[in-house]
Amino acid sequence: MKKLFSIFGDPVSHSRSPLMHNSVFKNLHYEACYTRTHLLDGAKLKETFFSLGLSGANVTVPHKEAAFEACDEVRGFAKTVGVVNTLIEEDGKLIGYNTDADGFMYAIKEFGEINSILVLGAGGTAKALVSRFLQDNIKVSVLNRSATRLDYFKNLKCECFTWDSFKSRKYDLIVNTTSAGLKDEYLPAPEDIIIQVLDHSKFVADAIYGKLTPFLKLAKEKNKTYKDGADMLLGQGVLANELFVNKELKKEDIEKYMRASFSL
Ligand code: NDP
Repeated sequence: MKKLFSIFGDPVSHSRSPLMHNSVFKNLHYEACYTRTHLLDGAKLKETFFSLGLSGANVTVPHKEAAFEACDEVRGFAKTVGVVNTLIEEDGKLIGYNTDADGFMYAIKEFGEINSILVLGAGGTAKALVSRFLQDNIKVSVLNRSATRLDYFKNLKCECFTWDSFKSRKYDLIVNTTSAGLKDEYLPAPEDIIIQVLDHSKFVADAIYGKLTPFLKLAKEKNKTYKDGADMLLGQGVLANELFVNKELKKEDIEKYMRASFSL
């Protein structure tokens, strides 16, 4: 029987995950189909997953923390961060994983050695990335609009700022993990702060993909080396697909057809 997969999010219409996974399934003759589900209430994630008869799913903004709560079992790196972006059905149970962080490490490999990072935002993606950076002994600072979500990062001994308390230093890399610029034209922080940090940084990355966000536009104007979230998306997608097909397909083949879908 054909397996069904989906992405859950709000918004979800921008997601390239269906194209990416379907390109793999189709080209490698794997009997499966991947769709998208607009989910407004994260608390309904588990119920919706099972009512659709899914074999697996991805979860995007703003439901990744709700996905962690919804799981019967969480495995690997997702346990460290409390954030789940990949779900698998196993014997009627919901199993959660996080493939975002390793996907991002794959994306920034080409920047070479990175020793200090400023993370903009303190949501699910920030949690996953920061915990992964700390594993590699990278010095991490976090800047977020509101103070509440910073507690998690303070406990990890990261330098934390809100817009009001921010003091800029030099960073090897600045990463935007906020959703500012996703469906609007906002910068992730006030313009004077963004300009200041761009002037002090070597590389710039945005988790948002498929558009030049106002943040990346400024980085481009300042002649910084930058990248959007496409390679991160590819990296997390390859790792998620491996879980979906339970390693029945070769990783190189998954990557080949997933990458090919980016030009569709
Ligand atoms: P969350 O909802 O968990 O967190 C959102 C964060 O963005 C919070 O820190 C929030 O701040 C901040 N924020 C939202 N709006 C604004 C704004 N207008 N100005 C400043 N800060 C703002 O989201 P996720 O972590 O799940 O996702 C974040 C982004 O990363 C999304 O755009 C998503 O598409 C992208 N992403 C891309 C991936 C890829 O593969 N390329 C993978 C994963 C995510 P506050 O606490 O003050 O509300």
